[in-house]
Amino acid sequence: MREVIVIGGGPAGSTAATLMTQRGFDVLLVERERFPRFQIGESLLPYNNDLLNRLGVVPKLERGEFFPKYGAEFVTGDGEVGYTFRFDRNLPEAYHRTFQVKRADFDLLLLRNAAAQGVEVREETAVTSVHLDDPDRAVLQLATGESVESRFVIDASGHGSIIGQRYGEKSEIAELKKVAFFAHYRNVPRPEGRDAGNTVIVVLRDAWFWLIPITAELMSVGLVVDRDHFLKCGMPPEALLERTICATPFMAERMKNAERVTQVYARKDFSYAMKRMVGPNFALVGDAAGFIDPIFSTGVFMAMKGADVVATAVERRLRAGSMRLLRKYERAVNGALHRYFRFISNFYRREFLEVFMQPQNKFGLLPAIVGVLAGNIFTKSIPDRLRLELFFALIRIQRRSGVIAPRIEWERLPAAASM
Ligand SMILES: Cc1cc2nc3c(=O)[nH]c(=O)nc-3n(C[C@H](O)[C@H](O)[C@H](O)COP(=O)(O)OP(=O)(O)OC[C@H]3O[C@@H](n4cnc5c(N)ncnc54)[C@H](O)[C@@H]3O)c2cc1C
Repeated sequence: MREVIVIGGGPAGSTAATLMTQRGFDVLLVERERFPRFQIGESLLPYNNDLLNRLGVVPKLERGEFFPKYGAEFVTGDGEVGYTFRFDRNLPEAYHRTFQVKRADFDLLLLRNAAAQGVEVREETAVTSVHLDDPDRAVLQLATGESVESRFVIDASGHGSIIGQRYGEKSEIAELKKVAFFAHYRNVPRPEGRDAGNTVIVVLRDAWFWLIPITAELMSVGLVVDRDHFLKCGMPPEALLERTICATPFMAERMKNAERVTQVYARKDFSYAMKRMVGPNFALVGDAAGFIDPIFSTGVFMAMKGADVVATAVERRLRAGSMRLLRKYERAVNGALHRYFRFISNFYRREFLEVFMQPQNKFGLLPAIVGVLAGNIFTKSIPDRLRLELFFALIRIQRRSGVIAPRIEWERLPAAASM
């Protein structure tokens, strides 16, 4: 019997498997696809840097085709109001830079790194079912017809969450019923200097775009709209994406010479929570444990950070029989998702954007907000938490009286295209 089996070779699975191997466990990772494979989630956060260092992949990221990211710009679709949050002006030096990545290459790098550190990796090996009745053992059926056993199984199978579907008590997040349409383009201009690597978020009245420079050549462009709008608008994804680009002055200008080099991909129903993330012989990690909306690029960070925390908890479970750290892991992930949810659900409100996109640097508010955008979400620092409470108090005042920041002329912003 194996000690640990990890299902899925995305960032959560590769990280969990590598860290378990570094702790001396015998680990098998099974991945359904053959890498490299396309995946979305291309903008990383600097609070992932410590972990990338521990995995030993930073020199490879620096040598590879990945693009350095020093900040994020938020701008209205008419280009009238905007702000660039810079990590290198607001955070300690260790968090000045992160990377924009082509996920096919990034995930391959992490998976190869896991194998190089001793993980047995089997690609093109889908898990079809998992049996968890015996608390000290997990039995996995593979699509190859084999059955494999381990003392513990880590489900990092992404939004399909093979164990989570059955044991996780999954719930959709009603307020965040969105769909995303995206593709890679060439010939999209970017600013000079460090700002060239920024994520750009373009805010519409009822939707938003991302522009993510994933290599020196390629720009990932995505549109996120309400699911209901898509269902009612009667347009296929490609037409909705391209017509909304044309109807949004900021995007139309940036994309005027753009050439699309991939198909238009679609993702729906990506925001959900899992009530139960752990059991005596399993843990869910990464998207398998929950995901909330891509607006702040949190997914890969949460996947890898979750894998880091869970590795310590699984080690305790296997060496000392204790569930305590697994339960603590579940609370930590839920807490972080809850804090992100507060930001993300507010993002879709006008008064939030008015305060957020026209920030004043009083009481250390700016570094606290940049910290959240950089992934400083597991912090227990009381001053940081108080600053964020103050930020939300300012938004409440803005909603009532509009005295905190100039109003944005919301009705004049472009909207997602319809027939
Ligand atoms: C529209 C959109 C935009 C996003 N943008 C960003 C962004 O800019 N930045 C960011 O950080 N995050 C972003 N995300 C989130 C990001 O995509 C995910 O959070 C991240 O990929 C999670 O990593 P993971 O390892 O948990 O899962 P995945 O990357 O999904 O990996 C899971 C792996 O498991 C494998 N698998 C699945 N089922 C099985 C099975 N039965 N047997 C074996 N293997 C299996 C899959 O093949 C896959 O390789 C975005 C998400 C969406 C929907």
